[in-house]
Amino acid sequence: LPQVRIFDVPFCKWGMEQTVAYLTEAVQKRDPHQIITANPIMIMEAVEKPAFLRIMQQADLVVPDGAGAVWASQKIGQPVAERVAGFDLLHELMQVGNDKGWSVFLLGAAPEIVMETERKLKEKYPNVRFAGVRDGYFKDEQDEAVIEQIQSAKPDLLFVARAAANQEPWIAKYKSRLAVPVMMGVGGSFDVIAG
Ligand code: UDP
Repeated sequence: LPQVRIFDVPFCKWGMEQTVAYLTEAVQKRDPHQIITANPIMIMEAVEKPAFLRIMQQADLVVPDGAGAVWASQKIGQPVAERVAGFDLLHELMQVGNDKGWSVFLLGAAPEIVMETERKLKEKYPNVRFAGVRDGYFKDEQDEAVIEQIQSAKPDLLFVARAAANQEPWIAKYKSRLAVPVMMGVGGSFDVIAG
């Protein structure tokens, strides 16, 4: 991938269209990917915590979810195409999923929020199959049960809406077992979608 390093974080230079095209191919090949939509808070977390930086470096795709990363890439003469916001990427992928009949698993937020998110997304993307939902308030001891639920659902897309410090390490830890083509942390997006 064409990359630019900012604070040692390898950002992909592609804009939204190329990013979506690449991930569409990943879904078609069932090729697992952890996607990190890195915002300024996450970049600062990576600067301060080597373990978090490693997670960013080992992700399959890091996209610039903020004007700061776009600006910095221009400043060092290796510009990224544009900002790729996580919330927008979620919707772009759902749109392709609606055209192609993909399945999605929603993991995270409070129980009533994730249920309402599913309802809203079903309304907007009726051809997407909703393979499973689960709230984000589970303990580490329940990880196994959550993994098994996702494995048996076999989704094309897995959106994880938990706190930023938690969702990326969680996906990184289990990505080889989950093996979903698109595994992406979406932070507070379910709260926004649910309204
Ligand atoms: N969340 C969750 N489980 C947790 C903590 C948070 O599912 O243990 C959800 C929370 O309900 C919200 C999302 O994660 O939908 C983002 O949470 P918050 O804004 O607190 O995290 P931040 O992104 O600020 O780190």
